[in-house]
Amino acid sequence: AFLTRSEQVEPKVQAFNSLDQAHVLAQANASDHRRKDGKVLGPLDGIPVALKDVIAEKGQPLTASSQMLKDFVSPYDAHVTEQLKGQGVVLTGRCNLDEFAMGSSTENSGFEPSRNPWNTDCVPGGSSGGSAACVAAGEVPLSLGSDTGGSIRQPAAFCGVVGMKPTYGLVSRYGLIAFASSLDQIGPFAHTVDDAALLLQAIVGHDRRDSTSFKREVPDYSKSIADAADRKFTLGVPKEYFGDGLDPEVRAAVQGAIDWYAANGCEIVEVSLPTTELAVPVYYIIAPAEASSNLSRYDGIRYTHRSKEAKDAIDIYYKSRAEGFGPEVKRRIILGTYALSSGYYDAFYLKAQKVRTLIRNDFNDAFAKCDALLTPTTPTPAFQFGEKTDDPLAMYLSDIFTINVNLAGIPALSLPCGLSSSGLPIGLQVIGQAFQEANLLAVAKKYE
Ligand code: GLN
Repeated sequence: AFLTRSEQVEPKVQAFNSLDQAHVLAQANASDHRRKDGKVLGPLDGIPVALKDVIAEKGQPLTASSQMLKDFVSPYDAHVTEQLKGQGVVLTGRCNLDEFAMGSSTENSGFEPSRNPWNTDCVPGGSSGGSAACVAAGEVPLSLGSDTGGSIRQPAAFCGVVGMKPTYGLVSRYGLIAFASSLDQIGPFAHTVDDAALLLQAIVGHDRRDSTSFKREVPDYSKSIADAADRKFTLGVPKEYFGDGLDPEVRAAVQGAIDWYAANGCEIVEVSLPTTELAVPVYYIIAPAEASSNLSRYDGIRYTHRSKEAKDAIDIYYKSRAEGFGPEVKRRIILGTYALSSGYYDAFYLKAQKVRTLIRNDFNDAFAKCDALLTPTTPTPAFQFGEKTDDPLAMYLSDIFTINVNLAGIPALSLPCGLSSSGLPIGLQVIGQAFQEANLLAVAKKYE
């Protein structure tokens, strides 16, 4: 049924870079046999899940939506892919994204952009735009994306679905194409908070192949959500998130959600995160710095596009990278290389790391007064194609409410909280304390 749905809507939505029907049906048949034999592997056995095209699945294309990797087939499974296979999940299409996860609209995809199922003149958000769009369009019930500065939550908000970025270190990054290693985290997209919890449960856990993966007990999220049904949470509202530049309809929808919590037994407190305005500048030093280092492996020699024009070894590096990377990726590599270069390292990179600590401290101070924070996910609903492509800074600002969460390493999710007058979804962001995903999900579930 999901494949049929995909056939109908894909020409309009373009969520997938590739979808191997025979591969999907083989997995579904295997799941049917397990069901007949009474050997079901868990609650997700037989459920289709789509992966962002930066998450490795053995034998499937792994392109990062880049011409650089357009013919690359993964020789191994990511940790999350292994986990899902072990639980009988049916892995479906490979979801489109902004090239190497750099962007907020999928317009930076090295292939075609994806479209917002609510209005195909609008972007689905990014970088995990394909992962959000395929869930919103009913092509799969669940998908995985990655979030370095908002790339799960922002497209979830634009497409009217639930999207969650877990605490840094909760989900292994083994087999995730690296963008900014100190910020990247894999997380779920779903129609409901309960579904997101099921998929999160399936991918968490320690993995020795990711040195930043944490070893700790993981609670049963579904049970924690049910247990917390009557809990009266104290919820913080950071005043810096409600300043100029916030679309009035987004403001009203988010305020409506805050009022709902207040009317339903939660205490609302105002908090302050004074470093909020520093998040975008700090992120655009740290993320490109890490990216410039991570992307040096795409050299035209090992497994990437190789220029046919190249005359010698150095020429292979230059020409292959010049041809293989798109403009935004080149912009980030140049920015990052500059920020890390001798003489500028202290002025930019080191300073950004120090401010990052201040951002984390701000959240710690806020969480001394509340269990979770409520904010808009994005300043506006989904924008139109082309609206921000000529102005990289305007594009960068669409993540103004999501980026500092990655810098602090804490979890957050976006869930729908209304529609704009033009019928586009609006997202409420719930931000939680490190490793308190159970609380975060419970707060979201209450409102949903
Ligand atoms: N939009 C942000 C960027 O362009 C965040 C991307 C992400 O989270 N992968 O870097």
